[in-house]
Amino acid sequence: MAATVLVVEDERKLRDLVRSYLERAGFTVLTTDSGAEALTLAGSASPDLVILDLGLPDVAGETVARELRAAGPTPILMLTARSTEEDRIRGLELGADDYVTKPFSPRELVLRVHAVLRRSGPGAAQGVASYGDGELVIDEPQRLATVRGAAVGLTPTEWGVLVALATVPGRVYSRFELINRVRGYEFEGYERTVDSHVKNLRRKIEEDPGSPRIVQTVLGGGYRLGLPRDG
Ligand code: CA
Repeated sequence: MAATVLVVEDERKLRDLVRSYLERAGFTVLTTDSGAEALTLAGSASPDLVILDLGLPDVAGETVARELRAAGPTPILMLTARSTEEDRIRGLELGADDYVTKPFSPRELVLRVHAVLRRSGPGAAQGVASYGDGELVIDEPQRLATVRGAAVGLTPTEWGVLVALATVPGRVYSRFELINRVRGYEFEGYERTVDSHVKNLRRKIEEDPGSPRIVQTVLGGGYRLGLPRDG
């Protein structure tokens, strides 16, 4: 079945352009120019991905992102006119999975949509693995992480980072390597974006995010999974 993409953009020309490219790529597309309606549609139509313009006339895109994120793990791809790294980091900290800076090529946008959906889908399902005497269980077919017995809701990017680190527990993965593994395509290389995702991930899975045991920082190196694989 075709994936459904909700496009939230108040500039009509841009909205229509994005819609036509996505439809040509085989997606079912819903559109709105309003942040309020976006939240209603996200609830009623359960899109597989939301493309969200940050600059909306009614509700700030940041607010929409936060509410979408609070409602569930639907991937968010942000459209932003702001191009400083700080702005990008802020978008990712709101829980966006990726962002595209205006002006963008619609073809690139479609590639990004595919990439985000690929890492949020059941795609590379491998199996169920347990780490640290069951403290962490990663169930790839179900796309479910369980920490200390409780299921944790992760964004597709957080999930991707965790699964990448768990490939070989204890091995150090550089930020650059994680970017490539998680995104699966050439990326501009904003390595600090990885730090934002790790920060969010730690908030969800660590007992004390201030002194993380599961996702450990290796100074000058990157990150590693601190728990050994069971069995
Ligand atoms: Ca706008």
